[in-house]
Amino acid sequence: MKVQKMNRPNEGIKCVVNTCHYYMSGDHCAAEKIEVQPKNALDSQETDCATFTPSVQG
Ligand code: SF4
Repeated sequence: MKVQKMNRPNEGIKCVVNTCHYYMSGDHCAAEKIEVQPKNALDSQETDCATFTPSVQG
């Protein structure tokens, strides 16, 4: 299911991944929702945003 990109920041999220389709300048994320993986991670280094989509496609 494709996540909607809003025309405003999702105020609950700070993200610096400026190569993501959902990234907005100012370290914002404009995805309506995100998913974080994986299960059983032991520290923050092991986790990542599963909603990430490269901004350079098509
Ligand atoms: S979808 Fe994930 S990686 Fe992309 S801007 Fe939002 S929080 Fe960052």
